[in-house]
Amino acid sequence: MNKKIFRSSFFIAMVVLLSSLAMIFTVLFSFFEKQLLDELQAQAKYISHGVENEGLDFFDDFDTGDRRITIVQFDGKVIYDTSADVKSLDNHIDREEIAEAITDGSGTSIRYSYTLTEKTIYYATRLEDGNVLRISTTQYNVFSILLGLVQPIASVILVAFVLSIILSYRVSEAIIRPINDLDLENPENNNAYEELSPLLRKISVQKITIARQIREAGKKQEEFHLITENMSEGFLIIDKDTTLLTYNSAALRLLDIDNVTEGSILALNRTKSFRQAVTESLAGSRAEKVMKHNDRSYNIIANPVYEDEEIIGAVILIIDVTERLKGEALRREFTANVSHELKTPLTSISGFAELMKSGGTSEETVMDFSKSIYDEAQRLITLVNDIIKISELDEKNIRYKEEEVDLYDLSSEIIQQLKINAVKKNVAVSLKGSHETVLGVKKILNEMLYNLCDNAIKYNKENGSVDVTISRKDNNVSVTVRDTGIGIPPADRERVFERFYRVDKSHSKTIGGTGLGLAIVKHGAIYHKAKITLESAEQKGTSITVTFDKSLEKGEICE
Ligand code: ADP
Repeated sequence: MNKKIFRSSFFIAMVVLLSSLAMIFTVLFSFFEKQLLDELQAQAKYISHGVENEGLDFFDDFDTGDRRITIVQFDGKVIYDTSADVKSLDNHIDREEIAEAITDGSGTSIRYSYTLTEKTIYYATRLEDGNVLRISTTQYNVFSILLGLVQPIASVILVAFVLSIILSYRVSEAIIRPINDLDLENPENNNAYEELSPLLRKISVQKITIARQIREAGKKQEEFHLITENMSEGFLIIDKDTTLLTYNSAALRLLDIDNVTEGSILALNRTKSFRQAVTESLAGSRAEKVMKHNDRSYNIIANPVYEDEEIIGAVILIIDVTERLKGEALRREFTANVSHELKTPLTSISGFAELMKSGGTSEETVMDFSKSIYDEAQRLITLVNDIIKISELDEKNIRYKEEEVDLYDLSSEIIQQLKINAVKKNVAVSLKGSHETVLGVKKILNEMLYNLCDNAIKYNKENGSVDVTISRKDNNVSVTVRDTGIGIPPADRERVFERFYRVDKSHSKTIGGTGLGLAIVKHGAIYHKAKITLESAEQKGTSITVTFDKSLEKGEICE
């Protein structure tokens, strides 16, 4: 600004100086021209008197100086000239000043030389005898005069130039200093220039607005930070050059990044699906990809960010979908298993019914077929019931009625229900321990204990025994179902809790197993936050314990 003011004032000074010089010269020049014409007029008057009285002899002792005097006859013929031989001069009738003088009595004319460096001023007056007396003189024009004055003018311009520089510098300094000294922290406390008051008032208002906006932006940033930091999903914002701008700690954790280095996000994660999601979103379309990383599956959702219809970056969400994908795979497997399990009894039923429909079957055979159809139908009912139970346990949103359940009483009821089965196999079932209660869903607890006891009888040997024991240690209440049956091979111990898993499929089917009993026990335990332990010795027996933690009973059990 200082430089600009300096340049402007210097420029103004120089323009004023040069235009003043030009104006002065123009005025002076026209002034001198008029004065010269007046002089010519006065001299012409005086000479014309002389010539009228004395004729051309008047010039004998007359000093004409730098003036040229010409006498022209009324027909234009030159009869006398002080600077040229009259014979060499042509007819002057067409000269402007001569023609004017013949008609009007006097005439003036100014004519420039070819080089334009000088001009000649003519004045002509008509004498009494009709001849015309012309007097002329030469005047140098402005440029010629200027050329003659180059030195003094150059000196004046030089002095003016130096003075302009000094003064312009001082003026600009004097203008700028108070502006530089303005206290912009308190704009309204300044009184440097009255003209600056509206500007300072505006700055003051803007300062308040900016302070408020900064406060609000800070608050928003804090809220944003709080929200993103509490997200379990990873959150990233990148610019159009893939440079990481913002991220939350979940994103670093999920992408397994220890140190965020400056530069492209693609350098931090090199998986193909991640790169594709970034590239596609920056090309303008929403991208959704599944990324495998450290044995886990992540859903990468990337959306482009627009400003004035131009892509300026992308927002990326990283969601851990490992459990969801596992669940989906399990459900797919479950559906396939269910279809398979249902198909077998249904095919049998259909086959028997078809044979009966065709007729010619003895009454005894019909009885046999009917029994088989009944058995298969019962199997189907048991299977469908078990599927319903496990599906209900799968449905996490279902809220069951919870109550204090006495596990001893419950076990006693179940043993009673299974008495016929036990008697058939001659298995002795005993109940031991104390009356312990847990807060839970009676229906689920009943299914869990029923399946454990049912299995202990089913997979027992003739004349074997089953012991059901209810015990408590501190906050842990346990139910142990011990049998003296066939046992479970070590390789199958983990897997028996999977849906439709059976150690010996045909044996299980013969004794009416659906393969869902222990899966129901496992899900029931998960529901009640209980632990299951299994001990088994082949051909000796199996012991399964479910332990409930009473310290977790705080109102709600279900998730
Ligand atoms: P199922 O309806 O076939 O009994 P379960 O889920 O209850 O299905 O049990 C799964 C498999 O575990 C059974 O098929 C059986 O082979 C084995 N099993 C379960 N309980 C016992 C037990 N007490 N003794 C020996 N094997 C058992």
